[in-house]
Amino acid sequence: MPKLHVKKGDQVLILSGKDKGKKGKVLTALPKESKVVVEGINIVKKHARATQHIQAGIHEKEAPIHSSKVMVICPSCKKATRIKKAQVKKANDKVAWVRACKKCGELLDK
Ligand SMILES: [Zn+2]
Repeated sequence: MPKLHVKKGDQVLILSGKDKGKKGKVLTALPKESKVVVEGINIVKKHARATQHIQAGIHEKEAPIHSSKVMVICPSCKKATRIKKAQVKKANDKVAWVRACKKCGELLDK
């Protein structure tokens, strides 16, 4: 399965499209489609018919956007950054690869 550079819970900056320059939190990562759903970004209006559970009317919902259109915002230096890989040693002495900020080097996965 292809890996995304963004994960659920990441703060991201939108690089293109109608929400360019906005920031939001990743609600869902869809690695299979290389897409992410970002809170408040790429809102689409859906006209819904009433069902047993849903009221009729217009529902606003985030639609997935391609992961190449977002950049992770580093929680440490607060800048939109590219990701590099960093090696960390786990408690069991195994080595794991985690994401790190290319600007300040801070690990994004703890
Ligand atoms: Zn950083």
